[in-house]
Amino acid sequence: RFADVAQAPPDPILGVSEAFKRCTDPKKLNLGVGAYRDENLKPMVLDVVRKAEAKIFAANKDHEYLPIEGLDTFRKATIDLLLGAGHPAIKDDRVAVIQSLSGTGSLRVGAAFIARFLPKGTTVYISNPTWGNHRNIFADENVEWKYYRYFDADTVGLDFKGMVEDLKAAPAGSVVLLHGCAHNPTGVDPTADQWAAIADLCKERNLLPFFDVAYQGFATGDLDKDAFAPRLFVDKGLEVMVAQSYSKNLGLYGERVGAMSIVTSDKDAATRCLSQLKRLARPLYSNPPTHGARIAAEIVNDQELFTEWKAEMMGMAGRIARVRGELQAALEAKYPSKDWSFVTRQIGMFSFTGLTPAQVDNMTNKHAIYMTRDGRISLAGLNSAKVDYLAEAMIDSVRN
Ligand code: PMP
Repeated sequence: RFADVAQAPPDPILGVSEAFKRCTDPKKLNLGVGAYRDENLKPMVLDVVRKAEAKIFAANKDHEYLPIEGLDTFRKATIDLLLGAGHPAIKDDRVAVIQSLSGTGSLRVGAAFIARFLPKGTTVYISNPTWGNHRNIFADENVEWKYYRYFDADTVGLDFKGMVEDLKAAPAGSVVLLHGCAHNPTGVDPTADQWAAIADLCKERNLLPFFDVAYQGFATGDLDKDAFAPRLFVDKGLEVMVAQSYSKNLGLYGERVGAMSIVTSDKDAATRCLSQLKRLARPLYSNPPTHGARIAAEIVNDQELFTEWKAEMMGMAGRIARVRGELQAALEAKYPSKDWSFVTRQIGMFSFTGLTPAQVDNMTNKHAIYMTRDGRISLAGLNSAKVDYLAEAMIDSVRN
């Protein structure tokens, strides 16, 4: 019976962390997983999170189940964070919000909703490349997915023309998965004008935008600016699906804090959508975890803590921007004939280095630098002390 179960391959992203743990080289560096590290490369707990936790513990709360849809104060906080408090869609009660298991679980509930309530055969278009788990999430719900062109390796920028062509060719009614900001893995986002054109195209072609908002705050350091794209789409009158995560911006990775929302054009539709989201969640995990939701709600709903969070968010984004600049400068100093300007043009947690799988193997096997085989490095795992070492390893790998 179980003897015939085949061994699964390691996860392309989390498998990197497993290999890093096994490595005994003292110079080893983990640039695989997108988790924020402080300047000493240690996991960081935000001060506002500590403060919110102190308040929660002081209130001596119980451990009862949450409702299937999650904690009300959290659901309000999360849609406020996305659209801005007082947004007309919120005031009109046109949004169905279900607290779910961080970004991944929210995307999965969204995929289940697509499978059950959108017409049979509805295809989800995802960017090429994208976060590796997107494919798994839709495939495991038996939702067909296809790529749209996104990254242009020659310009190390957006292939906007290719993206528009592919979306124009998508059948009406298709879903388009869009990264809200700080595209993973490329660090390349559309400009404001390009976002507007994509929104207009979705309207014209009756495409349903599904935003994956996993890095709000990490593109510019500003939580509002980073919500530009989903707000623009909603303000243009589009209905959208959105999966939000607090893993990165509140550093609540293991607490699994996030939400799946559907912004509809009328209140009754939102009520019905929520009823169905609950029905999908019930047999999957019944109800979401409490602790992280309480933390996020304390922070977003409290003016003082919210202001403090914004400052800490700037600090995290600022540290990443600084090591980005340092890495580019080191690469330019050591290998001036090559154009390294892409390093600071890219935004968010990652740099998409253009290293080939063979070059990535050289980075890992020779230099003990762990990264995903698509050539992505997480700058959140880099500090000033390691910049030179990384630059030298990259150049060695590019030259060989
Ligand atoms: N979407 C993207 C693009 C991501 O990079 C991630 C995290 N790596 C997620 C969603 C989900 O992360 P989590 O489930 O921890 O919220």
